[in-house]
Amino acid sequence: MKIRETRVAGLRGATPEGGWSNELKPDDIVHTLVAVYTDEDLVGYGSVFTSEDLVRAALKVLEPLYTGENALEPERVSEKLHQNTFWQGRGGAITHAISGIDIALWDLLGKATGQPVGRLLGGRYRERVLPYASLLMDEPGPLSEHLISLKEQGFRAFKIGWGPFGRRGSDKLDEAIVKTTREALGDEVLLAVDAGGSDAFWSQDYKWALRTSYMLTHYGVAWFEEPLDPDAMEDHVALRRNAPVPISGGEVFTRRQSFEPYLKAGAFDVVQPDVTKVGGISEERRIAWTAEENGARMIPHGWNTVVGLAADLQLASALPKTDLVEYKAGSPYIDEIAAGAWELDEDGMLPIPEEPGLGIELDPDAVTRYSGGGNLLDG
Ligand SMILES: [Mg+2]
Repeated sequence: MKIRETRVAGLRGATPEGGWSNELKPDDIVHTLVAVYTDEDLVGYGSVFTSEDLVRAALKVLEPLYTGENALEPERVSEKLHQNTFWQGRGGAITHAISGIDIALWDLLGKATGQPVGRLLGGRYRERVLPYASLLMDEPGPLSEHLISLKEQGFRAFKIGWGPFGRRGSDKLDEAIVKTTREALGDEVLLAVDAGGSDAFWSQDYKWALRTSYMLTHYGVAWFEEPLDPDAMEDHVALRRNAPVPISGGEVFTRRQSFEPYLKAGAFDVVQPDVTKVGGISEERRIAWTAEENGARMIPHGWNTVVGLAADLQLASALPKTDLVEYKAGSPYIDEIAAGAWELDEDGMLPIPEEPGLGIELDPDAVTRYSGGGNLLDG
């Protein structure tokens, strides 16, 4: 089976806010679906965390390398794309776009062999995974209402992030947000806190992060995410050693080679690559194993799309310590684009699809609605 062509669809019209200081608008395209068509009937789907324009430009560069390639060899084909682009866009748009192709090729391999991707990655350690509802912080009052409604929907794990946290110069406000959240949710649920240090010109430093980490222990916080500028590796290493709560990060990095020095130095308790950005499933699986072998674990960054979440679930099935996935709450790109929405079970967990490939079917109407028409699914 050979790769015939790729199609793309940038998602727009309901883009959720990202918390970035240069905030997203609903029509901004930051997530782009990719379909890989083959010379047989099968199509695989991937997702890329970047704009449609950048994905189209990257695919133009990559097209001569993947056209006619074996559609059932994801890791080799992705590595071929990496190896031939040392000089163009490596780590940026090229790597982002390779993520979409890689995910689609794993989907194709699963569909061709009748197996879920997790089994093809080596086997399923689990059949279900705990999704944590991820939402932006707000002032304590409205945030509590939002959290309670998500708990009523069945979520049993949560993460609050960005918003005013660490941005108003007020430790009191930071603590009030976390305290109110814990009181609203109760003690039994998992709660993580995300400072969002990958925001532009993040102004907090190591001492703020260390001080805040002590505050967070009072509220049983599961991990403290992106508490520092992502590039401040030595501060991460020191913070991980000295903070009483687990330290996480890595959502903006791409390529396994960028993660390795952080993981070897012990910068994270929890590393959070984004499968739609990092280079796809092939890359994220290797990052996860490097993490496990260096005393950390991988919990995927999932502020992306239904295809990204499906890839995360398959990865979680195939890794011993990945028992959580991020679930961007209230995004139609997660909830509406696959036919048959995700359903939490009575324990607030998501079953990991056993169907071939990623185990999801895209809903043509929803794809059309959120991609301004286009030909992603036209065959
Ligand atoms: Mg984050």
